[in-house]
Amino acid sequence: MKGFAMLKIGEVGWIEKERPICGPMDAICRPLAIAICTSDVHTVWEGAVGDRHNMILGHEGCAEVVEVGECVKDFKPGDRVLVPAITPDWNSLEAQGGYSMHSGGMLAGWKFSNFKDGLDSEFFHVNDADGNLAHMPENINTVDACMLSDMVPTGFHGVELADVQFGDEVLVIGIGPVGLMSVAGAHMRGASRIIAVGTRPKCVEAAKFYGADEFISYKNGTIEEQVLEMTGGKGVDKVIIAGGTVDTFDSAVKSLKPGGKIGNVNYLGSGDMISIPRVEWGVGMGHKQIVGGLMPGGRLRMEKLGALVSSGKLDVSPLATHVFDGWDYIPEALQLMKDKPAELIKPVVKLD
Ligand code: NDP
Ligand code: ZN
Repeated sequence: MKGFAMLKIGEVGWIEKERPICGPMDAICRPLAIAICTSDVHTVWEGAVGDRHNMILGHEGCAEVVEVGECVKDFKPGDRVLVPAITPDWNSLEAQGGYSMHSGGMLAGWKFSNFKDGLDSEFFHVNDADGNLAHMPENINTVDACMLSDMVPTGFHGVELADVQFGDEVLVIGIGPVGLMSVAGAHMRGASRIIAVGTRPKCVEAAKFYGADEFISYKNGTIEEQVLEMTGGKGVDKVIIAGGTVDTFDSAVKSLKPGGKIGNVNYLGSGDMISIPRVEWGVGMGHKQIVGGLMPGGRLRMEKLGALVSSGKLDVSPLATHVFDGWDYIPEALQLMKDKPAELIKPVVKLD
């Protein structure tokens, strides 16, 4: 089978590989559509998870099942499925401890295009099919379905990590597709005020659609100065980080009220240390919490988030700004994600 792969750090290309083998609990699927992720850019060009050779890329997409193992109960060839970017081993101790995304070790629930071949190929392998796949609701199209793999669950996880409560004032740093879903999630959770950080006009427009009230440009002075001015010197209750660098934590801590929480879902592709400002962290006693997390995956999560889209409560259609048709466009779509032109939010390639 053919696949589009990371050949080594900084290099991508088409390769031929053997079709994956289906274990008793697994499924083999063929992608119906795939989306490109900023994480692919970190992985390929920053080597952020380490060097990988001839690893097929892609962890966002929807698919048709072509084969299932003998123990799979709920899926059969021909089923159309949502595929989470994170596919934990549900019988692992980490999953039993509540952190399925780290099943088998740090970030090891993230298998596609990290520890094994991903979705950008004619066929791909899904471990624990009953635990990880979800039936695709009939009224969701394949492009929108791609947003359920990673953008919706990751953006929403930022909201969970920051523990957004009714009436909270929330700062969302970064309004690419992930941050946009954090804005949408914070709005759904009852934030009274959402301040968003980002400059691309298309993203600002979408952030307004999802419920952002005010905007800050990180290019016009520090984020914390602007937040403190907007909040009468008090700061916000919660911060979600979905963009920026290792230095963004400094601004986040300074923008936060005592007792506030920071939920980070940004993939820190470079830099060695994250520093916390001593004074604004209450000289160690400010009750300001910082949590960073990989999105939870799995079937239940996919079914619930899929229901939000199929019921019309969450409209993900503004995210896919660039939709291509056919395998040949995968390299172009990846390059777009690397270049981030002003009008781009998310590129999707239809393959059915
Ligand atoms: P984008 O690059 O599309 O968006 C990044 C956002 O951050 C943009 O709004 C950008 O502003 C803003 N930004 C850039 N630099 C700064 C800065 N110095 N300070 C503040 N804001 C800044 O990324 P995505 O939305 O696609 O992804 C966001 C992150 O989430 C990525 O790192 C991605 O790898 C990660 N991720 C994490 C996952 C998880 O499970 N935890 C899963 C999937 C993705 P501008 O408008 O100016 O471009
Ligand atoms: Zn992704």
